[in-house]
Amino acid sequence: MSVNIPYGRQNITDEDIQAVVDVLQSDYLTQGPEIFKFEKAFADYVGSKYAVAVANGTAALHLCTLALGVKEGDKVITTPITFAASANCVRYCGGEVVFADIDPDTYLLDINKLMTLLASAPKGTYQGIIPVDFAGRANDLEAFRVLADEYDLWIIEDACHAPGGYFTDSKIVNQNCGNGNFADLAIFSFHPVKHIAAGEGGMITTNDKALYDKLLTLRTHGITKDSSQFKNDLDLAIGSTQYSTPNTQYPLWYMEMQALGYNYRLTDFQAALGLSQLNRADAGLVRRKEIAKTYFEEFQGKSFIKGQSGVVEGHAYHLYVIEVEDRLGLYNFLRSKNIFAQIHYIPCHLMPYYKQYGWNEGDMPFAEKYYSQCLSLPMYPTLADSELGFVIDTILSFYEI
Ligand SMILES: *Cc1c(COP(=O)(O)O)cnc(C)c1O
Repeated sequence: MSVNIPYGRQNITDEDIQAVVDVLQSDYLTQGPEIFKFEKAFADYVGSKYAVAVANGTAALHLCTLALGVKEGDKVITTPITFAASANCVRYCGGEVVFADIDPDTYLLDINKLMTLLASAPKGTYQGIIPVDFAGRANDLEAFRVLADEYDLWIIEDACHAPGGYFTDSKIVNQNCGNGNFADLAIFSFHPVKHIAAGEGGMITTNDKALYDKLLTLRTHGITKDSSQFKNDLDLAIGSTQYSTPNTQYPLWYMEMQALGYNYRLTDFQAALGLSQLNRADAGLVRRKEIAKTYFEEFQGKSFIKGQSGVVEGHAYHLYVIEVEDRLGLYNFLRSKNIFAQIHYIPCHLMPYYKQYGWNEGDMPFAEKYYSQCLSLPMYPTLADSELGFVIDTILSFYEI
């Protein structure tokens, strides 16, 4: 087989292309009506009250830490097995990142490690937690919320891998990733390797009206056009005292920059693409689950398999991870057959940037062991059965099975 098989790939249909063309021929290029439609549809999809579309997932994380008021001296806990942005958003606001190790079975932030960490310092030492629904597996945010309430912490759920994922709570209710029932804020990415591709793009979901209002202004320079929020008086707004009467309204051009925000807007044509892709999200999820089940069944019990994502209820399967012996050998062998598996992730605490803050090898034994043998296999809805079979056969042949 000569075609390249990557670990993830977007799928752009004729409807997607038409949706983008329609916007290009309309009056709006940057934020317009498609943004609002996409936000509404996305909020409905995950079951949150509010959604705010932004330029990318990293901008979403940054706006979350800004809206929550992260500042120098704040300490925020996250997992080392994530994309660097999950941690970096704390640094953008001058806060300190504290890593806690993963559970070797779920690959998620281990709540027991978190508990130990929180209990070992006076209350008030930590301000927040950023659990990541790594690979698409949902965190048990109900349990995280109990701890967060006890220690007065906020929660940002990094759900970039998990649109459509869920966990089942103690009342046997399925809780969608990003539904805002337990986390203060959740974020998603529309990078092409993620479930919903918009070129670049991100979304923040929340059930908190005050945070929602803050996010809307922070996404566009901290500027508000809502006259009920204005702080300056009418004379200043009008630029003259000569018109001022009790009936005078703020002039229509008037706006106020009230906080230091950014330009983190999404364009309207990206929103149209995201919306069109969102319509196929459930079908994509069904295929991802099929692929996961096939991998699991083919590899279960094989001696070279040290761990795998497995078949897990509510898993959104952004990635399918296997842990193997001779990972480097397998990786290179797959590449020689045009199968481009990937590693997720090099532990964040071992990045030179974080090592300068004192993190080092040995600090996160489970994350480091996981890193030594993990490999993300091709996982995307358009992966054909023949390609899937080829990937599996190639892996089996490497181990001479
Ligand atoms: C992709 C990703 C991000 C960042 O999203 P971008 O849109 O690429 O900025 C953050 N966290 C996780 C877990 C991701 O996978």
